[in-house]
Amino acid sequence: MVGAGPVGLMAALRLREQGVDVRVIDEQTEHGLHTFPVVLHPATVRLLGSLGLTDALFWRGRPVSHLAVYTDGARRAVLDLPQAAGISPGALTMPQDSLRQALTDSLRGQGVAIEWNTRLASLQQDENAARGWLEAQVPGQGSTFEADFVIGADGYDSAVRRGLGIELVEHGPLQTYAFFDATSSRAGTEAQLAISEAHASAFYPIQGGVGRFSFQLTSALDRPADLAALSELIAARMPWHQEQVQTCEWGGVAEFRHALATNFGVGRVWLAGEAAHLTGPLGVQSLNVGLDEASDLALRIGDALRHPERRSLGDYDVARAIQWHELLGLSERASLGPRSPAWASRHLRRIVSCLPASGRDLDDLLDQLRLTPSARPQAG
Ligand SMILES: Cc1cc2nc3c(=O)[nH]c(=O)nc-3n(C[C@H](O)[C@H](O)[C@H](O)COP(=O)(O)OP(=O)(O)OC[C@H]3O[C@@H](n4cnc5c(N)ncnc54)[C@H](O)[C@@H]3O)c2cc1C
Repeated sequence: MVGAGPVGLMAALRLREQGVDVRVIDEQTEHGLHTFPVVLHPATVRLLGSLGLTDALFWRGRPVSHLAVYTDGARRAVLDLPQAAGISPGALTMPQDSLRQALTDSLRGQGVAIEWNTRLASLQQDENAARGWLEAQVPGQGSTFEADFVIGADGYDSAVRRGLGIELVEHGPLQTYAFFDATSSRAGTEAQLAISEAHASAFYPIQGGVGRFSFQLTSALDRPADLAALSELIAARMPWHQEQVQTCEWGGVAEFRHALATNFGVGRVWLAGEAAHLTGPLGVQSLNVGLDEASDLALRIGDALRHPERRSLGDYDVARAIQWHELLGLSERASLGPRSPAWASRHLRRIVSCLPASGRDLDDLLDQLRLTPSARPQAG
């Protein structure tokens, strides 16, 4: 496993569950890694539950049961987020780093210690094995490895993807987002999505009376991402929060690409997570769908190891490519029907990428919005 981000850790856990020997390497130090507060889609909560991780996550997580959709300043719909039966009444938000910590602890419990400070420098494969060169942080120190399979969960600048010669194709311009974690007197259990022609914004409650505000910016934020900047954005985009926000605990700005790898791997080397796709942050689809890919890929690899005569991972590549074409708006994921509200037609493409769901759960949300999901079978 190249990469000990959430996606790599998920794949490693799924492989260990099937009794597969796993090595996990990461070029960073254990404490150099940082992951962001996450919104776990209901499907991800179910996935983590199936790995026995519910307790570890739940005491730090905050359930989010509804998503209110605003367009052009008007409250249009309140969606019931699909349930994760017996675990959460919808999505779950987690503070910074706790998802990665829970996954790392569980993997340690399975006897797998992450090899930090270890960078994949080169990679080849033939029909018998994948082989490569790992570099430790100390120059000149390195080692070769040989594996039945390699998973590249090594993020947007994936060395595995480059080693395979797979191109990451960009779709659309770079987008800038400002993020704020702020205390709010009405954190509640409702998330909110506010969409206009020019931009989209979201609010998700996190634990401890804190909410995460995310704003797509149309021009650079020419001031620090602090309480004053947040108050200005709230006044313009989410005025119903104006009286509620008290302090800003953290703020930052980041750029996001929309991009998709031309394929998800070949032979013995496969990609999952941001190594294969990038999208905007509001629907948190890259991470959540990436976790589903990791689980799916690990199950297929486990099966291929048990049945080497099959020599194939089935339709992993094709199914995931179809799913991402739709999530990135490159092919149709939803269409307008006779029952669709007029406002939906103006924002159809943006809405799909901002909803906290994929697969059948996304169909459910589209149906609640009175949009027609595409007829194609969905991955996940
Ligand atoms: C500024 C910013 C804000 C974000 N905000 C949010 C948010 O609010 N909510 C949210 O859900 N998501 C957010 N994201 C996205 C989120 O971080 C990613 O979706 C998620 O981390 C992707 O997981 P991953 O496991 O695929 O990749 P990553 O988490 O990127 O993990 C890849 C790992 O591979 C390692 N690696 C890379 N190359 C090598 C190599 N050659 N050899 C060995 N190891 C290697 C890296 O060190 C890294 O640990 C944000 C991202 C950014 C940049």
